[in-house]
Amino acid sequence: MPAPLLFGIPGRRPRDRSLGRLLDGARDTSPDGVLIVDADGRIASFNRRFVRLWGIPRRLIAEKSDRKALQYVLDKLVDPQGFRARVQYLYKNRRERSREEIALRDGRTFERHSAPIFSATGEYFGRVWYFRDITERIESEARRRESERLKRHQELLASVSHDLPTPLTAIEGFTETLLNGALNDARNRTRFLKTIFNQSRRLRSLVDGLLEMSQVEAGSGRPQPVRLDLSRFARDFAAGMQPIFRRKRMRLRLSVPAGIFVAVEESTLSRVVGNLLDNAVKYGFPGSTVRLSAARDGRRVRVTVSDRGIGIAPKELGKVFERFHRSEAARRHGIAGHGLGLYMVKKLIERAGGRIRVESREGKGSSFIFALPHAG
Ligand code: ADP
Repeated sequence: MPAPLLFGIPGRRPRDRSLGRLLDGARDTSPDGVLIVDADGRIASFNRRFVRLWGIPRRLIAEKSDRKALQYVLDKLVDPQGFRARVQYLYKNRRERSREEIALRDGRTFERHSAPIFSATGEYFGRVWYFRDITERIESEARRRESERLKRHQELLASVSHDLPTPLTAIEGFTETLLNGALNDARNRTRFLKTIFNQSRRLRSLVDGLLEMSQVEAGSGRPQPVRLDLSRFARDFAAGMQPIFRRKRMRLRLSVPAGIFVAVEESTLSRVVGNLLDNAVKYGFPGSTVRLSAARDGRRVRVTVSDRGIGIAPKELGKVFERFHRSEAARRHGIAGHGLGLYMVKKLIERAGGRIRVESREGKGSSFIFALPHAG
């Protein structure tokens, strides 16, 4: 790359003086550092903001050496080679516009835009470069992310410390009672053991839920969707869930036409459908029917899981996908849960390029509707 002449070369000035002044004014009042380079790669003009941003000393300006000025700028960069290569590329590929972030060794970050300038007849005049200091924006984004992370961490701690003690106390208490003689109490020992068993299952489901959530949040790599035959998947899945439905005298009705294919990882779809069906059983009325249906909707496939059950109050509809959210109705009915399933379901679906929403009437039932890409 020819070292751009940074100083000394007068820019092309429009013949009309007032227009020329207007353009100079626009350049000088710009919040960005502006640098204009002519067709030969020599610098035609720059504004004060440009000098200030890069901290170019007066002495260097007075020297009028473009080579030294360029070196001065390169010395300030974390990746001077990358900077040079990108500039060279853009001088070769004149039609391209550019936008990138540049890291400086003093900790600042600049955003750099550039665009070519052509005449109406297509003659190349040069390129204009804009530099903006975005350090504050980047730092405040990092602070926001950090405070979100802390908030989530605290929520997690609060939830775990709320959900762990109850089952632990029950397990300890009943075990102690058994050890202290209740083992010989033929009438009560089975009841005590059942309580211990149920409470340890509750603990296990919390621990499993937390582990699963941390896996989903860590999101190991890019999803690798496959072409899944939905009706076959639904049939196999439903067969595996029969015992869970039977326990509550509930039925699962499938309405998935043949020939619908979704593009998704099978483990993702299993987790999503498994969670939604588990909930439909948990929050559904005993003896009721749950429906799993699907239909093509343009380039997507829409899947609906509907139940007849306790439903969700309108004011809580927007919250069910939040981590640890449990509805008032769920608590009132004494239905156990940790509020992790739907949070995970939403994450998984969004990662697979889909969307999920819920419709519900309290006391009547709920429908969870999600869309995934159709696999053509
Ligand atoms: P969990 O069921 O373990 O509490 P989820 O994340 O699966 O966690 O669900 C979050 C909340 O959304 C539940 O606590 C419940 O209040 C509500 N919910 C989920 N599914 C249903 C449903 N099918 N019917 C009624 N409420 C539901």
